[in-house]
Amino acid sequence: MDKVILKPRREESLLRFHPWVFSGAIGQIVGHPAEGDLVSVCAADGKLLACGHYQIGSIAVRILSFDEDPTLPDFWERMLLRAFQLRDAFGLTQSARTNCYRLVHGEGDGLPGLIIDYYDGVCVLQAHSVGMFRAKTAICEALKTVYGERLKAVYDKSSGTAPFKAGLELVDGYLYKADGFVTSKDELVVLENGNKFLVNWQEGQKTGFFLDQRENRAAVGRLAEGRHVLNLFCYTGGFSVYALAGGAAHVDSVDSSQRAMDMVDRNVALNGFTPDRHTSYCADAIDFIKKVPDGAYDLVIVDPPAFAKHRGALKNALRAYQRLNAAAIAKVAPGGFVFTFSCSQVVDKEAFALAVFSAAAESGRSVRILDRLNQPADHSVNIYHPEGEYLKGLLLYVE
Ligand code: SAH
Repeated sequence: MDKVILKPRREESLLRFHPWVFSGAIGQIVGHPAEGDLVSVCAADGKLLACGHYQIGSIAVRILSFDEDPTLPDFWERMLLRAFQLRDAFGLTQSARTNCYRLVHGEGDGLPGLIIDYYDGVCVLQAHSVGMFRAKTAICEALKTVYGERLKAVYDKSSGTAPFKAGLELVDGYLYKADGFVTSKDELVVLENGNKFLVNWQEGQKTGFFLDQRENRAAVGRLAEGRHVLNLFCYTGGFSVYALAGGAAHVDSVDSSQRAMDMVDRNVALNGFTPDRHTSYCADAIDFIKKVPDGAYDLVIVDPPAFAKHRGALKNALRAYQRLNAAAIAKVAPGGFVFTFSCSQVVDKEAFALAVFSAAAESGRSVRILDRLNQPADHSVNIYHPEGEYLKGLLLYVE
């Protein structure tokens, strides 16, 4: 294994188990590691600190192990089993009502650069680093061991996430298909809290479904009875289906993607709701909310895509969150609820709350925070890597 030697006094963050080595902390590289190779990381005095995947870029090493040897043949199996056991511990793997969840959440599961979502036996893998991309066959083998007969397929969807480097063939496709698994449509119906959803991992966004909103959707369901609901940035209608199941009088769903809106209609029908309780709009959510008459809705969900993908975009993103939330708060009927979210990692809880505060102040209405919302436990956050916390939301009560 080639060796990365840190500059003097640059080992602090590794000693606190932060899983990244920045290129600026490196004093010397012994050997000629290729991108994605395993390297050992040593302090300036030569003490071995950790091992990880090497990559050229600002994050030079993504740590896989502070103690165990990641070259041991059962490494992937042990790590995936740990991830599985965590999901098992809070009842996700055995549930009769939910058969989809995130199995691996990158750094949160000690596997930086790797996402694996589980859809009733189909694992969709996304590598965000060269090392994980190169390890995908070994990861697929480990998935077979962890899930056994339950595994129907493993689909690699890394073309949009793995860094494009010479020699990497970024073509999505199946790494494994169990005998009899039919893939003509690349989609199946999963259950989430008893609600049915079509997931298409090939054509859908990310791995096909936003598993991180499971608990927040349930919260919407609990408050939806008798309400007129507006679901902005609805994607395939997760919040809409829960609202209908919770007894909403009517739900309007809005997304700019026609493909997503087609899925919303199919998901509403799949769950047995009649079309008179639901209307789909393929539209820009910001234009849509501006044209809504005051008080037309008494529950509004605002779940936009990440407005800031990097620190440089932070200021504009905060302004966009403020504008969007000001419109939502201004329009909701007195006594109404607003569920508002941000999935931008660089926008922290405090900054988001401040943007929503400014939006409320702009509206001049009485607004109370009833709850603070988060990503669920299968999107686990490594306490040594707070950057893993990305989804935040507020439940507002507006008078
Ligand atoms: N709430 C969804 C996830 C939202 S992801 C769920 O529970 O599954 C963000 C969505 O916003 C995507 O579906 C994307 O197509 C949509 N989107 C992005 N920009 C938009 C815009 N300007 N207007 C409406 N929808 C938009």
